[in-house]
Amino acid sequence: MHGYIPAERFFPYLSWTQVEALPDKANTLIIQPIGAVEQHGPHLPLVVDAAIATAVVGQALHQLDPAIPAYALPPLYYGKSNEHWQFPGTITLTAQTLIAVLMEMAVSVYRAGFRKLVLVNGHGGQPQVLEIVARDLRQQHSDLMIFPLFVWGAPHNAAELVGASEYNQGIHAGDVETSVMLSLLPNQVDMAKAVREYPNELPAGSLLSLEGQLPIAWTMADLSRSGVVGDATVSTAAKGNAILASVAAGWVKVLEEVYRFEGLRPLPS
Ligand SMILES: [Zn+2]
Repeated sequence: MHGYIPAERFFPYLSWTQVEALPDKANTLIIQPIGAVEQHGPHLPLVVDAAIATAVVGQALHQLDPAIPAYALPPLYYGKSNEHWQFPGTITLTAQTLIAVLMEMAVSVYRAGFRKLVLVNGHGGQPQVLEIVARDLRQQHSDLMIFPLFVWGAPHNAAELVGASEYNQGIHAGDVETSVMLSLLPNQVDMAKAVREYPNELPAGSLLSLEGQLPIAWTMADLSRSGVVGDATVSTAAKGNAILASVAAGWVKVLEEVYRFEGLRPLPS
């Protein structure tokens, strides 16, 4: 059941007595991979974001110094995916439900004595939800350190590997995600159905954008007929292998830093 996660780092394989006896729970990393089950165009399976978040965590944990205590929770497959609502197969939680699930998971982790919780999210539609959860938990438990992180936020060279323009514009099921899926689950990718599609541009000189400083609200049906925003036709497993290796190496550094992190310094009195 551990899948991409090393068995010795898969939290639900522990017994309660083992959890109770862990020596340094306050500085043991508990990592929650978070994905989505949502459309990723005609050529990719629904599971992309959950697969990528879990595989990156797994590859990073395989490389992490065994002296750093860290465990992965089972991946949360469901996310908030209502921007893909018009495409059948998308399963979405409401923001309220996702907040409740993450809060209750975190409170359970806290109650067991852990004080460092790392959320590793693979779905671009929900960082805001994780940030709300993290802020509320911090307000309620001043001794809990919680890190609401995006899988693509770690250092990596994906922009070099697919080109800066596709990296910035190919926001969904484009070259990055398709290449990574060709590496992870090649039998679940149908390159004969891969397309290249980009949304209509906003008027030239517009201050507004789809994401960024002055964003407009949209759903995927506003942007794309296929469900793809990007170029999936040029994807290769070789690129996917290189992207995954780079992101996983970035996550090793992030996890090392979370392990060393001792909290913000107290204000001078
Ligand atoms: Zn995705």
